[in-house]
Amino acid sequence: MEELKKRILKDGHALSETVLKVDSFLNHQVDPELMYEMGTYFKNYFKNHGVTKIFTIESSGIAPTVMTAMQMNLPMVTLKKQGSKILKGDVYQTTVHSFTKSMDYELTLSKKYITEKDNILIIDDFLANGEAALGAARLVEEAGAKVAGIGIVIEKSFQPGRNILDDKGYDVYSLARVGKLGENLIEFLE
Ligand code: 5GP
Repeated sequence: MEELKKRILKDGHALSETVLKVDSFLNHQVDPELMYEMGTYFKNYFKNHGVTKIFTIESSGIAPTVMTAMQMNLPMVTLKKQGSKILKGDVYQTTVHSFTKSMDYELTLSKKYITEKDNILIIDDFLANGEAALGAARLVEEAGAKVAGIGIVIEKSFQPGRNILDDKGYDVYSLARVGKLGENLIEFLE
């Protein structure tokens, strides 16, 4: 997505060789028009995948995901990050390691919002080691539903997540693929 790559070059900052900060349009302040465009790209890619519902992970995936759900006319569910396990049986939970916070959380989905007939599109803001996307996929599969695909706003292709998801057979579509980060350096893959 050319508009996104331009925006990353204009407003993104590489905090290190592994972390990209995009607080001015995605992670803190949000540019709604750009989010809408992202939704159009995700819709165009996934429109024939038989998606029944779209899942995202709180909180930075919500803006692009709601724009996608609106354009695909589908319901959306936000997976919650809980600090500890809920012991009642009405949720699915799985432990995920946070790349940016270096800590574990319990990714949580109420059993009310998924059935085994669902075919779920998972959308997230970043793909690094693939932990968050894999956790979301585990919840979907634990419920007996299918993963229709995984949509990522910014993939850091030099980290292992993309290959792990590809190897597991998921259909991964990223709007921007970053090949290299460094001081004053952001390079994309074609
Ligand atoms: P993963 O689970 O693939 O290792 O990391 C993905 C999650 O970590 C995303 O949900 C995102 O919130 C966060 N994340 C990973 N890398 C970055 C990054 O470079 N910048 C920002 N802002 N968030 C990141």
